[in-house]
Amino acid sequence: MPQRPYIVGNWKMHGTRAMLSEARAIDRAAQRHMKVEVAIAPPYTLIHPVHREAEQIGVGAQDCHHEDGGAHTGDISAVMVADAGAKFVILGHSERRQNHGESDAIIRAKVEAALAAGLRIILCCGESDKTREAGKAVSFVKRQLKASLPVGHEALAAASERLTIAYEPIWAIGTGNSATVEDIAEMHREIRTLLVELFGEEQGAEVRILYGGSVKPENAGQILSAPEVGGALVGGASLTVDSFMSIALAAAEADEG
Ligand code: PEP
Repeated sequence: MPQRPYIVGNWKMHGTRAMLSEARAIDRAAQRHMKVEVAIAPPYTLIHPVHREAEQIGVGAQDCHHEDGGAHTGDISAVMVADAGAKFVILGHSERRQNHGESDAIIRAKVEAALAAGLRIILCCGESDKTREAGKAVSFVKRQLKASLPVGHEALAAASERLTIAYEPIWAIGTGNSATVEDIAEMHREIRTLLVELFGEEQGAEVRILYGGSVKPENAGQILSAPEVGGALVGGASLTVDSFMSIALAAAEADEG
């Protein structure tokens, strides 16, 4: 069954309680755009308050630790974000990989912890500008994804049901320069091939692949109409209801063709 486009806002380290009114406005607007699945990942401190008020949008976390609990000052586990009301978690974002030294092995452990806690996962992947210039973007992203997913047939099958992939070229994040539609289409096609290899024809076709990297109202229609683009992971433009819901509207229009 074809899935609705999925538009997810990554609020990063933005948002105090003053931002709850924006989350409420996004939730109300999402009720008028039911053909699109809308979600936001606010900072940890806002997960519970947004979850308590949201009637339509999904609420998720931007990361979690790979252990359930223990002596990890400042960290938050998958069990904890689920307890706060998160239904999904973004894992492997390039800012986590770069700023916190997260390896594929750590991300795989986080994926396993999130699945065990009953969360859905948005697994990010994406190449640097150097890797793209060297012509190695596709092989890099495929290797990164394989190394971040659980190993073994059963674990993979379980993961596929709750998995979304977000292709986010690092050089496109927060720069205002999104990838070209041709490059996005090529990478999404390659990721789809990998998903079918890993999960089989049927399940591999069901996993949504989002694009992320400077998606804004002006370029959303074109990007979201590209083949195999099942939605967008949106950073800066998700912070206001107007820009975020313009992207959701573009997704609905692109889906109608
Ligand atoms: C992101 O951080 O996931 C992202 C895509 O950011 P931006 O939309 O601001 O490029």
